[in-house]
Order: sequence, then C-alpha cells, then structure tokens
Amino acid sequence: MTSPGAIESVCVYCSSSNAVAPHYFEVAAEAGRILAGRGLRLVYGGGAVGLMGELARSVHRHGGSVLGVIPEALREIEGVAYDAADEMIITRTMQERKAIMYTRADAFLVLPGGFGTLEEFMEVLTLKQLRYHHKPIALVSTRGFFDPLIGVFEHFFRQGFANPRYRSLYYLADEPADAVDYLIQAEP
Ligand code: AMP
Repeated sequence: MTSPGAIESVCVYCSSSNAVAPHYFEVAAEAGRILAGRGLRLVYGGGAVGLMGELARSVHRHGGSVLGVIPEALREIEGVAYDAADEMIITRTMQERKAIMYTRADAFLVLPGGFGTLEEFMEVLTLKQLRYHHKPIALVSTRGFFDPLIGVFEHFFRQGFANPRYRSLYYLADEPADAVDYLIQAEP
C-alpha cells in the first residue's frame, strides 16, 4: 500500500498506435518528461511503437528509468519492443505481463489509447473497486479524450450499475503534470 509521497514507480497504459494525431504524441512525451523529472520509474508494456515508444524514449531523454514488460509473442515481432529499456521482463502470456505491471507499480497513469489501454485500465479499476489494491489511478484526458468513457461511467452511476462513490477510484486530469501530482499526493 502506498502513502502520500511514497510512490517510486508508475505503470502507464497508452496507445501502441502510430496513426494518431501529433498532439497525442506530445502528451506521451510530456508524461515521460514529468515522470523522469519527479524521479518516478516508468513501468509499461515495453513497446517501441505509438505513444508507448514516445513515452519511454522521453523518459530516457530526461534521465529517467524504464521497466518494460512484454510477452514473448510481441517481443518476436521486429520493431515492437523497446530494446533500450533499463529492464525488460519477457512473459509467456499477456495475463502474466499484466500481473507483473500491476505488481511492480505503485500507481497507474492512463494516457489516450484504444482497446488494449481500456482493458488494462478497466482491470486495475475493477480490482480497486473490489479492494484488491488501493493504488492511485489517474487518466490524462487530453482535449477531452476520455469524455465519452466518463459518460458511460456516469450512465452506470445513474442506472445503479456502479456506486457513485466509485467516482473517487480514479482521477481525471487534463494534462500529465496534474495527473502525476495527484498520484504522488493521493491518500491510499
Ligand atoms: P492499445 O490501446 O490497443 O493500442 O493497446 C496498448 C496497450 O496494450 C499498452 O498499454 C500495452 O500494454 C498493450 N499493447 C498493445 N499492443 C502492444 C504492442 N504492439 N507492443 C506492446 N504492448 C502493446
């Protein structure tokens, strides 16, 4: 369990796509700069592609440390893995990979992403709802990127499918600095 100011590593979930608009890459680079600047180790999916690659390269450009966790099937696809990671854990399955990312991080940061990012976010959110962990979770909703998803959550709250107090399980930020500050000061 983390206490305010005690976090050392942040697991980041974000897009593996190279096809998204430049401003999303800028957010990934900014997140990397902030993590490195705050002395927080990046734990992530080990990819060199899309926002994942931009994020990891930015952490390194700013003097930070990177732990990648990648399944062997993805590792074998040329160009997908970030070979410059300070530590790279190769797992047999996606499930094993998610478990290691989850265990090795003190907090979670979600940047814009697609199905993979959403799946990873939903897993840590659900585990937190069920009290399997108390680690802080923040989303960076660049230009309102996560508004439609939050709209679905509000629908759940209104219809009684999720308790409205679960709004406090995650923090919605406009930019990485605000999100990371929240992760650092969050009460477990
Ligand atoms: P997506 O949002 O669908 O692009 O999926 C990105 C998330 O899923 C990341 O946080 C990764 O953990 C994982 N992932 C998906 N595709 C890759 C890939 N090519 N290389 C590494 N991780 C990936």
